[in-house]
Amino acid sequence: MSAMLEVRDLTVAYGKIKAVKGISFDVEQGEVVTLIGTNGAGKTTTLRTISGLLRPSGGSVTFKGKDLTSVPAHDIVQLGLAHSPEGRRIFPRLSVEENLLLGAFARKDKEISNDLQAAYDLFPILEERRAQPAGTFSGGEQQMLAMGRAMMSRPELLMLDEPSMGLSPLMMKRIMTTITTLQGQGTTILLVEQNAQAALRRANRGYVLEVGKIVLSGTGKELLASDDVRKAYLGED
Ligand code: ATP
Repeated sequence: MSAMLEVRDLTVAYGKIKAVKGISFDVEQGEVVTLIGTNGAGKTTTLRTISGLLRPSGGSVTFKGKDLTSVPAHDIVQLGLAHSPEGRRIFPRLSVEENLLLGAFARKDKEISNDLQAAYDLFPILEERRAQPAGTFSGGEQQMLAMGRAMMSRPELLMLDEPSMGLSPLMMKRIMTTITTLQGQGTTILLVEQNAQAALRRANRGYVLEVGKIVLSGTGKELLASDDVRKAYLGED
């Protein structure tokens, strides 16, 4: 059996700058897998390449057995792969509900109202504030909206880029708990985080990215216990 997502020898460059230098990793169905690493390690570049927003200069990305490297981004969403981007990228002038509905743009079926309700069940504040312009939301509320919007495409694999960025500890816990809830509901998750501790505690497995290369991998538990990870990412001596 092949993994749901297989990344092989992936190389991505911005002009002459190689941001991702031949990385390989897998995400199995049902897993939460995290990519951790410091600023500029290439995490965002990796997610943007998987979702078709950037094209690799080498290597391959295979999702459910299909090579994605020449598939347009909107078709990749239709295949069941959603991306909640760094910085959330919500539409500030549109209402909460309009933002959620945009997440379903690639869908052709008629069950969108059920999924709207599922997003509201996940984050009840979105329902309470459904008519409010999304730009007036706090950072944590915007993160909930970004995740709710990504779920509106009914993804089998959800990619989250730094969902904890800029959030209070309480809100971060809320978002991290939701990741586990979504996993329990059957969604596979690829989580990019700078907050290594929070991510590794939730993840089945993780990969450590440093300047475009994977330097370490293991289960969440193994990486949390690793001296290298503790020193470099958990701020321990
Ligand atoms: P962060 O956590 O800071 O977002 P990251 O691990 O997600 O970091 P990337 O954003 O993928 O890292 O960046 C990887 C490298 O690619 C960095 O050296 C960055 O400066 C460079 N880079 C990213 N975007 C561009 C771009 N549009 N043009 C040129 N270089 C870029």
